[in-house]
Amino acid sequence: MDPYSQLAQLHKTLEAMTKTVAGLENDILDALKENTELKVENQLLREKVNKLMTTSEVSETKTKSGLESLRQIYHSGYHICNMYYGSHRDADSDCMFCLDILDHFVSRASAIKKRADHAKTK
Ligand SMILES: [Zn+2]
Repeated sequence: MDPYSQLAQLHKTLEAMTKTVAGLENDILDALKENTELKVENQLLREKVNKLMTTSEVSETKTKSGLESLRQIYHSGYHICNMYYGSHRDADSDCMFCLDILDHFVSRASAIKKRADHAKTK
């Protein structure tokens, strides 16, 4: 092969290589862009999850303190039941409606929460 043809061949090869390098550069830029977008999305989702977890913790303590205040009202001599709510209770005898509420307050609240969590996963 004469030197002129060799040079032309080399030139063609170089052009092909330049094209390949440009293509790879584009691919890398796309990957970097996608990586950044995924990082941002991941961060936002983490914040959302943290928020949801804090909210459910708060509602759990709310449930507990709600029960505690109902119990205090009951023990200070007032009805908390739907039947006699707010009226004076005979201190010597328990009201079965009030006791029923106190007994089932927590389990009812956690059952509602469980149902809500179940619905969330769907
Ligand atoms: Zn009662």
